[in-house]
Order: sequence, then structure tokens, then C-alpha cells
Amino acid sequence: MQIAIDGPVGAGKSTIAKECARRLGIVYMDTGALYRAVGVWCSENSIDAYNEEAVTSVLPKISPEIKLFDGVQRVIINGDDITDRIRTPEASMLASKVSSYGSVRAFLLDLQRDFAAKNSVVMDGRDIGTVILPNADVKIFLSADSKERARRRYEELLNKGADVKFDDVLADLEKRDAADSSRACAPLKQADDAILADTTGNTFEQSVELIMSIIQNKT
Ligand code: C5P
Repeated sequence: MQIAIDGPVGAGKSTIAKECARRLGIVYMDTGALYRAVGVWCSENSIDAYNEEAVTSVLPKISPEIKLFDGVQRVIINGDDITDRIRTPEASMLASKVSSYGSVRAFLLDLQRDFAAKNSVVMDGRDIGTVILPNADVKIFLSADSKERARRRYEELLNKGADVKFDDVLADLEKRDAADSSRACAPLKQADDAILADTTGNTFEQSVELIMSIIQNKT
């Protein structure tokens, strides 16, 4: 089974997708982690992530892997588990930048498709229903009001002990959504056959119920 969940920053994709995968007894894959990992790897290895040529030329030296430990995804690059270093606001902006390069998207395509070929998955990202899994059994476009999404992301970062301001989180979110939606290569958009799920005002449980009912109706 392949379930594609796309949508903008902070719509709750990862937490909702993870819980739906758990209830369905299948695997969850967070594809944003791959773009984050490439961005962070570049930054840690003195490659300018804002320079498309520099990033493209270094790709043959990078071998990213997705591994599951007790069902939890880890991202490994060249043998180094980078998972704990990819959740910062800087990593978000690096991911948004490198993900706009066609070379990076092509580089990560097979890894994502192979994973979905080997496992029943709930996969979340920006282009899963449109590009990565065009024949997915269920496609959902998850969204919510941008202020509410920023509030959720802000609280998530505060809970992790980050020193952030709400206005900065909102500005970053709007900047990232605008970049993701306007890029030439695989922009964020709802697939023609995706179902729109708006989670504004929902509790987490209500959103999970909404997505589970869409999945059950479709499968
Ligand atoms: O989902 P997450 O916020 O972790 O993704 C980080 C960034 O990676 C996004 O802002 C987007 O630019 C990029 N991304 C993408 N395609 C995906 C998943 C993430 O372009 N399938």
C-alpha cells in the first residue's frame, strides 16, 4: 500500500502520517529528512548550499541511506547518522534551498521510490503524489491556516528547547512555502487526484481521524 501525504510546512504531516502508519501497521517515511540531510551535509563539509553548481558537483560523493530502527527512521550519509542534526531552523532553510535544484531531486528520487517499492508506506513530503508516487493508492493534500501552522511549529521548537520568536517562525514558514510552491522543479501543489484535508482548528486526534477515514474510504 502506498499513501502519499503532501502539504506545506507545519500542516502536521509528519505527526499525523506517523500515527496513521502506526494504526495501519505499515511504515512511515519522512522525505523532507533527505533534503535536510543533504543541506546539512553540504554545510558541514564547507559546500555552499546556495550554489547549485557546487551542490550538484558534490552529489556523486554523497551516499544517503534511510534505515529503520524499531520502526523509527534514521538518515545516514556516508555512514554518519545525521538524523539528530537536521531539525534546526537553519537546516529547514538549507533543505528548502537544495530541494529547489533539479539535480538534488533527481538524485533522491530512486531512493524514495525503492523504499516505497519494498515497504507499504505512508510517505510525506511536497511532491509525493505528483512526482514520486504518481500511482499511490491514496493521495492527501494536508493543509491549515498559516498562522495556526506557525503556532504549531513554534510550540514544537520551544518544546525542543530552541530559542525562537513566533514572528521569525511565521516568516520562515511563509518564505519556505513560497519557495517550495514557486520552484520550477516539482513544486508543492495538490495532485489532481489528491483529497484536500484542512486541519485548521482540529485537535491532533481529529486530524488523525479525518485522514484515517479518507484512507479507509479509498482502500
Ligand atoms: O518536510 P520538511 O519541512 O522536513 O521538509 C524540508 C524541506 O525539504 C521543505 O521545505 C522542502 O523544501 C523540501 N522537501 C521537498 N520535497 C519533499 C520533502 C521536502 O522539496 N518531498
